[in-house]
Amino acid sequence: MVEEYELELRIPGPTPLPESVRQAESKQMISHRSPEFADLLAETCSKLRPLFGTDGDIFVLTTSGTGGMEACVANTVSPDDKVLVVSIGVFGDRFAAIAKAYGAEVVNLEFPLGQVADAQTVARTLDAHPDCRVVFVTHNETSTGATNDLAAIGAAIQERGPDRPLLVVDAVSSLGGIEFKMDEWGCDLVLTASQKACMTPPGLAMIAVSQRAWPQIEAARSPRFYFDLRMARRYAERDNTPFTPAVSALYGLDRALDMIAEEGLDAVYTRHERLAVMLRDGLRQLGLLPLADEAHASNTITAVYVPQDHDGAAIVQQLAQTYNLHVGGGQGALKGKVFRIAHMGWVDEDDIQRVLQVLEDLFEERDLLEGVTP
Ligand SMILES: *Cc1c(COP(=O)(O)O)cnc(C)c1O
Repeated sequence: MVEEYELELRIPGPTPLPESVRQAESKQMISHRSPEFADLLAETCSKLRPLFGTDGDIFVLTTSGTGGMEACVANTVSPDDKVLVVSIGVFGDRFAAIAKAYGAEVVNLEFPLGQVADAQTVARTLDAHPDCRVVFVTHNETSTGATNDLAAIGAAIQERGPDRPLLVVDAVSSLGGIEFKMDEWGCDLVLTASQKACMTPPGLAMIAVSQRAWPQIEAARSPRFYFDLRMARRYAERDNTPFTPAVSALYGLDRALDMIAEEGLDAVYTRHERLAVMLRDGLRQLGLLPLADEAHASNTITAVYVPQDHDGAAIVQQLAQTYNLHVGGGQGALKGKVFRIAHMGWVDEDDIQRVLQVLEDLFEERDLLEGVTP
């Protein structure tokens, strides 16, 4: 039966690759110490700047998104530092776990799953803990499909003046799909990864760093070597990387960024928004409920409640085996309770229609359309 259904890869990364990215990836190797490579890295970084919304430094690390998160922690946190982790789901919790592993004293500020962080509550928590040196926030929570209002959170932190903590943002599932304005919002370190809205295979984490962050990075006392941004900065002066980079992934990323520029960044954002709305409307017509409130529903990922009395893992498995539609399962406390449909990167109306058609087929066959309540 699988033959009848075209592959539809709708997991939140790795996402499908455009043909031209696949071609770029298959090019012959070059020396990573050659002028040719330096040009490639410099160009890729300058093409990344509008996605981050920064004029500042950008580093490309060969690692996954979590490696990028760890690099942000290792370079800003010293043992026994107090840090605030604002969590709206699994990826916020991951920041807390990494900060703990580096010996930080973590103040956890958690919001209910499907909700977003309230900027005033963030500010009040900092009032209660004025010695926090870093605030960690997830821009787009991939486990729930909710997008934080980073403009508001950033403004609330910027109001605290020059002694404010660094603001470190995980933008792994948003950058390239949802607008980001690092400089305007006062973010200090922002990380993303290649395999989500950037339409590139896994392997690269991209980190932007504000000028303001450097003294704390220089002074941090956490052990670091591979992820040492001080070393990355010295090499970046010559458009190079300290260690062997994933050259193929960089070829792909550079091409993907050209595609984004050709379509136009604003057009890319509008497409993501249009498709997200189309998906959520279609889901509701099928009687399926998105987890996140509409007011802050994500433009790149939608978590959907599993219909009552049904097994979330079985639905994910059947979608893959019978319909060749690959979606994400629930994570953490949402395991078995939701499944997640990614709509980031190389995605269009037809993809969304296909997802909705398959869900209709599945739920018609299994007669699940009754009683879909959380
Ligand atoms: C995917 C993701 C990560 C982790 O990325 P890996 O490449 O799997 O390590 C981190 N944060 C968010 C928000 C993500 O969506």
